[in-house]
Amino acid sequence: MNRAEHISQEDLALYSMQALAPEEQAEVLAHLQGCAACQTELREILEEEALLALSVEQPPLPSGMQQRFMARIANTPQQTAAANVAKAEPVPVEPLKSSGFGLGWLGWVTAMVAIAVAVYFGNHSFQLEQQLNSDRSDIAQLSAQAARAEELTDALTSPQAKQVTLTETKQPAQPVGHTTYLASKGALIFVASNLHPVAPNKTYELWLIPANGKAPMPAGLFRPDATGSASVVLPQLPEGVEAKAFGVTIEDAQGSTTPTLPIVMSGS
Ligand SMILES: [Zn+2]
Repeated sequence: MNRAEHISQEDLALYSMQALAPEEQAEVLAHLQGCAACQTELREILEEEALLALSVEQPPLPSGMQQRFMARIANTPQQTAAANVAKAEPVPVEPLKSSGFGLGWLGWVTAMVAIAVAVYFGNHSFQLEQQLNSDRSDIAQLSAQAARAEELTDALTSPQAKQVTLTETKQPAQPVGHTTYLASKGALIFVASNLHPVAPNKTYELWLIPANGKAPMPAGLFRPDATGSASVVLPQLPEGVEAKAFGVTIEDAQGSTTPTLPIVMSGS
């Protein structure tokens, strides 16, 4: 990468996900410290990631979980502001992974992420507006946001994240998928659990069914891990396609451009 020039949007996005090599992360950081234009660009990328989380519908939360989650998310120098919005004092929190609440309880997790991101960016966008272009502490803040955004994505999609789906007792766990889709950005996150295994020469394929009646669009291939969990994060989709529904089919391993019936999972 030639750091004499501005950093490409793609590299900034990778930087925000901490997906660059360590020396490249350092190079980007060094450039950001001296470049207001790239700082602004990075902030916009981070805000888009926040928008994604905000687009999730929010089911009601069980009492106490919202504060616990926010306290954990805000376990940084920002906890005071987060606690103000929660209208509660910070509460002692044990790490979520050992708390007994499965992160894979998809509706709640996505709702909590949405709340956490809303609080996080709500509190800091004004502050960032004022302080950007000034000194290095802003860069530290942006980097902290990048790390936080990565953590949120991880919580939703990591193979290590515990996936628990509650069903009516005595019923076997059913395959379930959850999509978060922001048509204006063509941004899609899909998380599924309790999936049946597929044959080695087959794959699941996710489809976006456009609202305008056009043909289903391929939206990513996925195979369940040993626990039946899988995710598709930000597949290549054009911007501005409203979705009527989503579906999942089983295709040959290389995937297909048109869905092969039957549709094994669907939702609209
Ligand atoms: Zn620059």
